[in-house]
Amino acid sequence: DLDRPLENEAPQELVPLLDRLEAQKKSIDAQAAERRRFTANVSHELKTPLTVISGYAEIIDRGIARPEDVQRFVGLIHDEAQRMKTLVDELLTLSRLDDAQDPAESMALDMCQDVSLFKAARSVAGRLEPSAARRCVTLHVNAPDDEVSDILVKGNARMLEEMMRNLVENAIRYNVEGGSVTVSVSRDRRGAPMMRVADTGVGIPPNLREKVFERFFCVDESRSKETGGTGLGLAIVKHAAQLHGATVRVYGNDPRGSVFEVTFPLA
Ligand code: ADP
Repeated sequence: DLDRPLENEAPQELVPLLDRLEAQKKSIDAQAAERRRFTANVSHELKTPLTVISGYAEIIDRGIARPEDVQRFVGLIHDEAQRMKTLVDELLTLSRLDDAQDPAESMALDMCQDVSLFKAARSVAGRLEPSAARRCVTLHVNAPDDEVSDILVKGNARMLEEMMRNLVENAIRYNVEGGSVTVSVSRDRRGAPMMRVADTGVGIPPNLREKVFERFFCVDESRSKETGGTGLGLAIVKHAAQLHGATVRVYGNDPRGSVFEVTFPLA
């Protein structure tokens, strides 16, 4: 009876199955931990502005604010409310992108539009021009020749513009006074459509370049907060790119700043 498996030892043919189950369990545990971390971050990020809002509102309500301070407090309340609105909007976008990845829900998002990358880039740059000007940053949109306006990708126009907006917004936000942002649309050597956002800003340390795509990750928390960042923008970029079969890469710009490059699949 030597062939009989020892007690507590799985029969040989079950080993691969058990390994697979073990791996699945680990992945589910990791997802649960990630979800807990995400919920904790969301609660914290919503609570912080709420505390400021209710604190100042209470001071004004009880009539204990000095008259010369009231206007400033109202301004702070407004800023924090705006921050909460941005955060809620971004959370909704992320959740819509999560749903879109689920085949059962993906019908909700029209992914069959022909989107001109050049037109999208121009429209995003047009909308962000005032915020670039406020920070003394110049904004360029480049296309090597006229033909480029025909670089089309299949997908959802709104999501692609949202992706570009987040990249350009960051390139302005993490720039320096007198710096520049260049959005370019082209094809790579194989002919795949691509879009690049290059800035001359503060740059990202090489060891953190992969981490910036994680939800709520900030290289410099104070700079991010000060400029209205939520830590969700690049998570949205990565998700939106994935949904279009595209890949996002980040590298350092020469002599300073960062370049974010999105490469779409060949048509
Ligand atoms: P945030 O809302 O904080 O900007 P993001 O997800 O858009 O969140 O970006 C994550 C972090 O990556 C930012 O906090 C910032 O530290 C860094 N980052 C993003 N884009 C740039 C850039 N163009 N230059 C330098 N740092 C950047």
